[in-house]
Amino acid sequence: MTYFPFAERRDTFAFTCTHILDGEGEIRLVTHHFDDGSYEFLCGEEGHAAAHAVIITIGELLDLDPSIALVSDLPVGCCAMRKDKQSPWEFSKLADEEWYPASQGRMP
Ligand SMILES: [Zn+2]
Repeated sequence: MTYFPFAERRDTFAFTCTHILDGEGEIRLVTHHFDDGSYEFLCGEEGHAAAHAVIITIGELLDLDPSIALVSDLPVGCCAMRKDKQSPWEFSKLADEEWYPASQGRMP
């Protein structure tokens, strides 16, 4: 079995955008929602419309960009951002959601 760092199953659905799938953008914004535990992996550009939303599995996203393994312990109610693929992830709390730590040590 290949290494899979997320607590979710490989075939758990997550939201991404067409820019990631088309290779136009890199995953630069990851959001883990408090209410339903859903993940979003977006390119981080402004102005996404519903037409840009795509649902695929976390496993497929990890194959696309293995560096998202570094955010596999992102607590719910939090997001991670980076400038580009070479930059470190920066974790922060979502302003309008509750959160609790999925693991220790990440949050301020
Ligand atoms: Zn996008």
